[in-house]
Amino acid sequence: MGFLDTGSTVFYGTGVTNIKVSGKMRFVNNETIDIKLEEKKTSPKEEIIRFKKAIEITAKETRALAKRARETLGEGEGQIFEIHAMLLEDEDFNDTVIGEIEKGKSCEKAVEISAKKYASVLRSLNDEYLSARASDIEDICKSIITTLSAKNEKNDDSNEPYILVARDLTPSETVKLDKSKILGFVTFEGSPSSHTAILARAMSIPALVGVGEISGAYDGNIALLDGEKGTLVVSPSNDELLEFEKKKAYENKIATEHERYLRSIMNRPAVTKRGHKVLIYANVGSGEEIEPALLNGAEGLGLLRSEFLYLSRSSYPSEDELFSAYYEIATKMQGKRAIIRTLDIGADKQIPYFKLDKEENPALGYRGVRICLDRVDVFKTQIRAILRASAYGNISIMIPMISTLNELERCKYIINECKNELKEKGVRFDEKIELGIMIETPASALISDELAKEVDFFSVGTNDLTQYTLAIDRQNAKVTSICEENKEAVFKLIKMSADAIHQKGGWIGVCGEMAADLSLTQHFVDMGIDELSVAVPYLLGVREKVCACK
Ligand code: PEP
Ligand code: MG
Repeated sequence: MGFLDTGSTVFYGTGVTNIKVSGKMRFVNNETIDIKLEEKKTSPKEEIIRFKKAIEITAKETRALAKRARETLGEGEGQIFEIHAMLLEDEDFNDTVIGEIEKGKSCEKAVEISAKKYASVLRSLNDEYLSARASDIEDICKSIITTLSAKNEKNDDSNEPYILVARDLTPSETVKLDKSKILGFVTFEGSPSSHTAILARAMSIPALVGVGEISGAYDGNIALLDGEKGTLVVSPSNDELLEFEKKKAYENKIATEHERYLRSIMNRPAVTKRGHKVLIYANVGSGEEIEPALLNGAEGLGLLRSEFLYLSRSSYPSEDELFSAYYEIATKMQGKRAIIRTLDIGADKQIPYFKLDKEENPALGYRGVRICLDRVDVFKTQIRAILRASAYGNISIMIPMISTLNELERCKYIINECKNELKEKGVRFDEKIELGIMIETPASALISDELAKEVDFFSVGTNDLTQYTLAIDRQNAKVTSICEENKEAVFKLIKMSADAIHQKGGWIGVCGEMAADLSLTQHFVDMGIDELSVAVPYLLGVREKVCACK
């Protein structure tokens, strides 16, 4: 593939992390397996050779991914990729693809046709396990096509890490990114409060979202990604490259010095000059992040996004699998509070094996607690696992997306049922386990006086509270700036909730992305916020800022 050499071009987006990175861009077409695939390019014989080579490479990469997933995410997640690798080598599947190539189809088209055939047969059998395998077939089809385009069209066999460029990434694609191969990523779509951006921040991946369409002709060109400025300079001149690297080195030096200072205060209580204490907690997606969180002074976990464990799998986790994940969290936290948010899927967090219908307005539709209250079996499995883990540490339960008192009452009823079931079996759990809810809808803030009577704490999810208060889709880059200029309405709702819970003797935290925005820390202190929960890279900075507040 030749490089487009027309001088530098700048694309503007929104930085997700304040990190600078430079490197080659690699475009990934992850849209669906419906991508336009050109018809036969070479002879069937050559196409079959291409196919076999692609299978070999993809299987090898998938096995490496399985190993990594097993080490970082757990046994169950590793198994998913192990199954993918086995499917890749399935003789029937390979014969079907080769049959299509022999009929004159290109390798890519033959893979697509065969995967669709297999997936639809598996789905028609109406079996939960086999349906999950259908999604696996579609996933591996994407991997084979990615391998074919990456290796054959670019003839690039290097292991050099690259800046990944895609139209968008789903949270589950982001969670699977291999940090040793990716320098950073850029997406045409997306906004800084999407779950993809949240994950990138948690994983400290340099990223830029909402840059608009970039021509695939730039694939392989060098680019400078500046997360702070929100720019991507494609095909920079030598001078631009040198200047960028000089700035990066300088900023890294300052950052290292500042970090050294921050580390020296990591055990200092976050108390303002007027004596208001704020707990500094971490937002995490799995037990893997606990060690870095503790090393950065986290006094607790303010938000465990429990859905990430479901997202990285291809079938429902069992109660025992969930228990062992929560047990790990409870014990690793060494008595510090760990708030496990119950499953919050729907909207941008789609999980194929839940088989949720496609919706016109997913953010306003079927998500979070609304699904859990319908899928009581799934909800109870999770609640029992959390309760069991509570015997081994300081665990609290938090329910997302509450918007009515009735929803909360039904959740409490189900939690009680789970407690009774465990008691009957003689299984230990913390009888005094704390219960909280997220304040994420304007409705929950407006009835916070009623809700406060029923729970121990609130935690404000500013990402959704902003989305629903200002009616701005958190996924849509075009409306991101509206939020920047109009936080007052959101603050009023937070203050209202803080007053309500304090009156009932409870406490309130903030765990949305605003909690890490240092320009807002004083506002939160003034409202009497008791806890700020942020992604691991922001823990030290927020502690420093609280100490500097009035
Ligand atoms: C929020 O909405 O602010 C929040 C913390 O939850 P999530 O970002 O996972 O929706
Ligand atoms: Mg939310």
